[in-house]
Amino acid sequence: MSSLRQDPLSGRWVIIAAQRQGRPNDFRGPLQRPVSPQKAGDNCPFCPGQECMTPPEMMATGRATGLATNGPGWRIRVVPNKYPAVRPETPLKISSDPILLKPQGPAQGGHEVVICCPRHGDSLGTLSGDHLAEVLSVVRQRIGSLAEQNPSSRYVLAFGNQGPEAGATLAHSHLQIITTPVIPALVVDKTENFLRYSAATRSCLLCDSLAEEEAEGSRLIAANETWVGLAPWASRFPCEMQLIPRRHCSSMQDVSDDELDGLAHLMSLCLKGLDNHRPGAGYNIVIHNAALPSTDGRGYGNERFDALQGETTGHFHWHVEILPRLSRQAGFEAGTGFAINSLPPEEAAVILRRESR
Ligand SMILES: [Zn+2]
Ligand SMILES: [Zn+2]
Repeated sequence: MSSLRQDPLSGRWVIIAAQRQGRPNDFRGPLQRPVSPQKAGDNCPFCPGQECMTPPEMMATGRATGLATNGPGWRIRVVPNKYPAVRPETPLKISSDPILLKPQGPAQGGHEVVICCPRHGDSLGTLSGDHLAEVLSVVRQRIGSLAEQNPSSRYVLAFGNQGPEAGATLAHSHLQIITTPVIPALVVDKTENFLRYSAATRSCLLCDSLAEEEAEGSRLIAANETWVGLAPWASRFPCEMQLIPRRHCSSMQDVSDDELDGLAHLMSLCLKGLDNHRPGAGYNIVIHNAALPSTDGRGYGNERFDALQGETTGHFHWHVEILPRLSRQAGFEAGTGFAINSLPPEEAAVILRRESR
């Protein structure tokens, strides 16, 4: 059973999930490198032919008519996480004793895995743009379903960990989607900044940033009709990338198939650039949608978020981050919550522009 605990000093939430200690780990060992992809396929729960090693699937694409569910023949497969950080059946109730010192409640929510491709050695960076677009379309669909099935959710995060340095425990390419009944502090901060900017200028912070970055150009990596990829002004990680939709909308749920296609092709280019620069580099991909609205007092509530003046969802401009793990975060980052980055984004953009061509 997972629990959500809040540190009364910092206000930070933590999911305590002891059951996740039993997860398999492809990267155990001194070098933290997987055995060769071909060999790992034998024990990999995400490889075709091993479907019985995961819980029954929620959906799959690509399987020809007549082939059985939970068998091979799929292109993308979605399963519940076997070692979930949050659980749907858990009743939602904050308890604390005494309330001000040890706030905690059950970690209620859904936790799914999107297995991106059948081939063990592939990664998001090696998939075709069209396959990646289908992966993103599946993620969009599952985000909507998970929010619906977990009415206590205040946030749905889709993310990917590639490589052990990025926190992956299984080598086979996959993304995860987790819903939480609390709004992460980072999302509250971003929403607050969108609202503050809008109150001062009647405009959107990210729409305006995008226009300025395109005019200035030094941090641009790649762009297409619907998306722009840049090295953000205050990058925390060397070669950090931010992918921003040109059209203002608050979540992945609001975009057209064409826009999703544009994201997939830009993401392919950006990941290719990173891999050419540092072959095999680990990274996280994070999809930042707006927080779910606070109807019916759903979730644990968040005083700061719920007190914000303005339309919190509509002002949020969704975006995607690629966070390479080329350096380790250390004591300063742990002690302050902000990063020291030794590669200026302007230099990272020159490298990534060149390497993604
Ligand atoms: Zn595999
Ligand atoms: Zn905008």
